Amino acid sequence: MKKIKEAMLRRSLVFLFLFFSFITCAQTTEVVFIQMNDVYEIAPLEGGKFGGLARVKTVIDSIQALNPYTYVFLSGDFISPSALGTSQYEGKRINGRQMVDVMNAIGVNYVTFGNHEFDYKYEVLQDRIDQSQFEWVSSNVLKVSDGKSTAFEKSGVKFPEHKILRFPGYLKNHNIKLGMIGLCIDANNQPYVSYEDYYQSAKRVYGSIKDSIDYLIGITHLSIDEDKKLASELPELSLIMGGHEHVNMYHKVGNTIITKADANVRTIYVHTLVFDDQNKLRDIKSKLISIDGSVKEDPKVKDLVDEWTTRAFKGFIDKGFDPLVMVYDIKNDTLDGREETVRYSECALGYLIANSMFDVSPGADLALFNSGAIRIDDVLTGEITQYDIIRVLPFGGKIYQVELYGSLLKQILETGWNNKGNGGFLQFYGVEYTVQGWKVKNQPIDEDKIYNAAIADYLLTGMEQNFGYLTKDNPGIIKITEPDPSNKADLRNDIRFAVIEYFKKWKR
Ligand SMILES: [Zn+2]
Repeated sequence: MKKIKEAMLRRSLVFLFLFFSFITCAQTTEVVFIQMNDVYEIAPLEGGKFGGLARVKTVIDSIQALNPYTYVFLSGDFISPSALGTSQYEGKRINGRQMVDVMNAIGVNYVTFGNHEFDYKYEVLQDRIDQSQFEWVSSNVLKVSDGKSTAFEKSGVKFPEHKILRFPGYLKNHNIKLGMIGLCIDANNQPYVSYEDYYQSAKRVYGSIKDSIDYLIGITHLSIDEDKKLASELPELSLIMGGHEHVNMYHKVGNTIITKADANVRTIYVHTLVFDDQNKLRDIKSKLISIDGSVKEDPKVKDLVDEWTTRAFKGFIDKGFDPLVMVYDIKNDTLDGREETVRYSECALGYLIANSMFDVSPGADLALFNSGAIRIDDVLTGEITQYDIIRVLPFGGKIYQVELYGSLLKQILETGWNNKGNGGFLQFYGVEYTVQGWKVKNQPIDEDKIYNAAIADYLLTGMEQNFGYLTKDNPGIIKITEPDPSNKADLRNDIRFAVIEYFKKWKR
């Protein structure tokens, strides 16, 4: 009996061995896609713990050494917002030049637009495009000039609506052809940009190439709901490498895989597309890789990153910052500075900044600022440095103390409230909205009373959305106290000094 069992076991082992030999001997072709999205920072963050494009370069090289058919993608949002980009170099604002330089160095192959590519004026974007050594693919974004919509161009060549990647499959003389489309969310309405409907343009472009490709993939910068809708409207998409949300995710809609990596290369996605001996796509193995201290930095890219960091930091040091100094370790806590949070709700980060303004403003009843001043569009966690504060508030700006009538204060708060979704949505401290209306210090605002409000200087320019009436000569304003620029001890000279001071108090 025992012998029979052993014989059976042996036989099944032999069968298993043969089965796996057959599987592994089966001829397959693999192509690898490396996906990044929403990258604003070239150097590691959180005290060096995560991110850093020099580390990404090491990963790219190690994958490329194993498979020459490796492509590197960045699914939008890289020119802005970046704190380094707000500093000066060679007499000009850096404006994303550092990012494109490093992207060239790590060997990015393909990008599509993200909404932040349109943060600057047209000339800046064109400079960055001309500087780039990678290819841009855009199926739904056009440039508007002289009232006409045409494709953006690089060196006089129009951006393609699609791209077809070709690589040899197992079948001889049959290249595998992968069509690629690129889509961007219509969230940034600059006069020089126009957007087509995502789904229509995706279908139109697919229709024009479907007879010349084997499979379709997308690089997109859309919300996850839009990506899901895209997958259901165009089920021919095998893979959507998306962005915009800043947190990693993996979804499957029908047969379409949708992935997003974490912002600032905290993670990247590595997709291995496996084709069988008939050139059929059999599998997409998607692996999320953490870019942390365990990954060595590529020395050449690190030198380049350090060069740019030194150039930009010089500008910050000249202003009195110490960018590398840690201001607070929030450990595993998070401070959400994403636009979808700060422009839509009274949030912890907004409250903290307004509280910082209040604390440095003697005699203030309240503090308020425009949420558009928060530019980080990312979530802070771990060790927060002075550089991170600059990332949050790259434009700085002064804090004014404004004595104003309650009637004007009410109007300001109402305008801010109605600005939900744009940079004119207000964040505040010392104010609350209740069923009885707006309250300051627990009392309803008295229209005839004079209040002392700490206000970000930009709000008094009249340039913020729907705040055209809020200028220094508004009749509702009694008095404005501006900080003395020569008095370095007056933290109202830069809102970021106030925030750094606030964190110092937390430490105590
Ligand atoms: Zn975005």
